[in-house]
Amino acid sequence: MNINLAVIRGDGIGPEVTAEAIKILDEIASLYNHKFNYNEVLAGGVAIDETGECLPEITVKTCKRSDAVILGAVGGPKWDDFPGSKRPEQALLGLRKALNLYANIRPAIMFDALSDACPLKEELVKGGLNLVVVRELTGGIYFGEKGRKIVDGYEAAYDVEEYNVMEIERIAKTAFELAMKRNKKVTSVDKANVLESSRLWRSTVNNVSKDYPKVELNHQYVDNAAMQIVRNPKQYDVILTSNLFGDILSDEASQVTGSIGMLPSSSLSKGNFGMYEPIHGSAPDIAGQNIANPMATILSCAMMLRTTFNLIKEADTIESAVTKTLNDGYRTMDIAKPREKVTGTKEIGDIIKSNLKILI
Ligand code: NAD
Repeated sequence: MNINLAVIRGDGIGPEVTAEAIKILDEIASLYNHKFNYNEVLAGGVAIDETGECLPEITVKTCKRSDAVILGAVGGPKWDDFPGSKRPEQALLGLRKALNLYANIRPAIMFDALSDACPLKEELVKGGLNLVVVRELTGGIYFGEKGRKIVDGYEAAYDVEEYNVMEIERIAKTAFELAMKRNKKVTSVDKANVLESSRLWRSTVNNVSKDYPKVELNHQYVDNAAMQIVRNPKQYDVILTSNLFGDILSDEASQVTGSIGMLPSSSLSKGNFGMYEPIHGSAPDIAGQNIANPMATILSCAMMLRTTFNLIKEADTIESAVTKTLNDGYRTMDIAKPREKVTGTKEIGDIIKSNLKILI
């Protein structure tokens, strides 16, 4: 296959982890006879520094023309004092909206070799953990009307949570389709006891579920779900939720697996076009030291090959190479136990690359 990829390296550790992911994609290309063309574009802090804007128009155009997008991470203390609409992170919201990336898929998988890193009691995660959060990404409170006003003489601020039936239906379908390929269970998370938008969410999800009689559906309030994820995470297969609740719950679910540096994500539009990125941020505290874990970004590329390009063997090979690297005892700093030998970003990329050849 000849594939055009937009690459946004971003800020902090973004360029370091993206470099390792590209190293792996290049090796996959040579092993399986594909060609990946990389179109490098700017977004985030580095784009502000070079162009004055966090999301230049050329970046959006290039992403739209590409077959998929790979993103490192954006943001950092250098730009923290910028006003909200001008911060690097605004580039993410802009990309999601411009590319219509309405479905954020975040698997939280615990690797056997890293079960020690799980902060929960062993009996709660015995036999492994494999759940996925499906988060609505282009609607809800992050995109609703917002502003300031004076109420009773005091400054007040508001952010409106609004969803329409179409937005809820399409993300619900994404969750049910995914559940059909997994353990056929969807837990829809809302706050229908308080919020009108959640009541529409719940009734719409119930309607969509009629088209998926093989999938078991249950509903949880978000406060209960936040508790259940640490109390009994194995009850979940697919968690379906809104933009705000998904932001919080997916971070919580990822922490249950033990390392933020291991988890990939995809943000999908219609037709399986997607942007693929690690769930972590730009980690400015460790940037430029060759100690960041590149595995989340590498696994995001495996997700991309499987989801957007249907290259199943290639995706499986990358995932097996990561698993073998962990099983062989190699650890980056974030997943190493005290006094365990630590392998650097580039070196772990090289080891994964050499494992691809062994596993093909
Ligand atoms: P973070 O995910 O960048 O870092 C949290 C902690 O995890 C830090 O201690 C960091 O060193 C560690 N960490 C993260 N990724 C790691 C990796 N691959 N290997 C080893 N350790 C890793 O979150 P934060 O500190 O809250 O945010 C830092 C910046 O990133 C902020 O500007 C924030 O807005 C931005 N951010 C960007 C994205 C994105 O681009 N998608 C997501 C979240 C945060």
